[in-house]
Amino acid sequence: MEKVDLHRHLEGAIRPQTALDLGKQTGTFPQDMTLEQFAASTLVLSPMPLMDVLSRFDDMRRPIASYDAVQRISRETVEDAIAEGLTALNFRFSPMTLAPAAGVSVQDVFQAVHAGIDEALEKAPELCVERLAIVSRGRGVEKAWKLVHELEAGAAEGMDGVDFASDEIRYSTGTFHDVAQALDAMGLPLTVHTGEGVGPEAIRETLALPGLQRISHALSLVEDEDLVQEVLERDLLVEVSPSSNLYTTLVEHPSKHPARVMIERGIRVVICTDDPTLFGIDLAHEWDIAQTYLGMTESMLQRSQQWAKDALFASL
Ligand SMILES: [Zn+2]
Repeated sequence: MEKVDLHRHLEGAIRPQTALDLGKQTGTFPQDMTLEQFAASTLVLSPMPLMDVLSRFDDMRRPIASYDAVQRISRETVEDAIAEGLTALNFRFSPMTLAPAAGVSVQDVFQAVHAGIDEALEKAPELCVERLAIVSRGRGVEKAWKLVHELEAGAAEGMDGVDFASDEIRYSTGTFHDVAQALDAMGLPLTVHTGEGVGPEAIRETLALPGLQRISHALSLVEDEDLVQEVLERDLLVEVSPSSNLYTTLVEHPSKHPARVMIERGIRVVICTDDPTLFGIDLAHEWDIAQTYLGMTESMLQRSQQWAKDALFASL
């Protein structure tokens, strides 16, 4: 059976030991901090408010302060996917956030990421890695255009597509419509974090974006029947990450996860990890949740994994 993780953030897949080691080198973490102390203060191993999760996400990536650090975490993320037995990996990262943190140019971030991925793939060339650049809505439209210009200036080479992520409350997805149009003109397909902590109106804006191929989370989708119909008619695939939604307290119990209704309605749902090391999970753990609480049988899971493989932008 295929083992595809269609939604995984580089910055949420950093090995805790690596973050701790690099953090000690950069002075981000105290020299005498143990891995246990680091895990307790930085990982998200139980539900907590979304703002706390985002702040811990930032703590994890703060030590990524050089070109070599970006290359290292990219290599290790792919090595970990290989060890996990994945056949395909979505690898998404935020160049406009990593560049200032690492003290390098945006083009260098892309170069470091590719170098790290390619280094790991030397040992497992059969692994398919889908490489997506993230537009962080929370950094504003101007920064999004800067990323478009960097992609036009050469960074698009070797990339498979783009993801819109982060704050959808203060920065509505519709504001990025023209950015999506420019990306579509460049032939870069799009997936979008949407309806994560906001109502279905956000998903409506997302569905209007040019180049849209997949959506993520979409927790409020099932509140709007017209949207459900549209997603079904367009055969859009939804990337669902159960633990992520539980740990950010957007869903209070796995048995109440909206993906259960999506699956019942025949929407194509694919189970993903989002931020595996931050949440202390792997894909098998999320599959268990899907089978125990979301009504997915073994054969449904298999079919869904085939959808995930077919939906990879890397194979477009
Ligand atoms: Zn995500």
